[in-house]
Amino acid sequence: MNKKIKIALATQNKNKIKEIRKTLGKNFKFVQLYKFPKIIENGKTLEENAIKKAKAIFNFLKNAQKTVAPHLSVVLADDSGLEVKALGGKPGIYSARFAGKRCNYSDNNKKLLKLLKNVLYKKRKAKFKTVVVIIFPDGKLKTVEGVVSGYIATQPKGSNGFGYDPVFYYPKLKKTFAQLTAIQKNRISHRAVAFKKAKKILS
Ligand code: IMP
Repeated sequence: MNKKIKIALATQNKNKIKEIRKTLGKNFKFVQLYKFPKIIENGKTLEENAIKKAKAIFNFLKNAQKTVAPHLSVVLADDSGLEVKALGGKPGIYSARFAGKRCNYSDNNKKLLKLLKNVLYKKRKAKFKTVVVIIFPDGKLKTVEGVVSGYIATQPKGSNGFGYDPVFYYPKLKKTFAQLTAIQKNRISHRAVAFKKAKKILS
């Protein structure tokens, strides 16, 4: 019988957890952390931030194991961002807080559309990028990446997904990511591509 691989995921974002669970499938068991350590994402790249998250969870589990946690699991952390060519790669690592400290997804999309107000379609190229970091029980670390290219739409469309999905237009399907079903998004997204690579390594 296949033994499930135990994963500790360094995120509390429910949308992301849903997508990641679907990509990894049923051979992976997600470990519930009884406490989530505070992680300051002050790295200069997505990779630096993902490593910070993964290491924080790894060390937390290593310490907790001495008292309450069961066997140490594989730790997975991801950091994602939207990179818009006409904005020199912004918002990038600032994707979550593009419109300010306490902003929401809609504030970020409004700011983005405003900045690109007079920019023509062909100059609105953008890509979503995800970096996934795996830390194995012996502390070894591995990094994989997923990218999906598209354009920033001129207005938000669709109500599925989260974040910049309503303004991220995917030309191959002629829809924004927010107009795709969860299954469709999960076939092509940056996160799915990166986590499929991680799954291959772990399997
Ligand atoms: P995180 O590092 O995965 O938490 O992503 C940072 C920010 O990037 C999120 O708060 C979203 O604004 C944006 N983002 C990441 N992944 C996606 C996605 O799949 N769709 C839309 N926005 C995303």
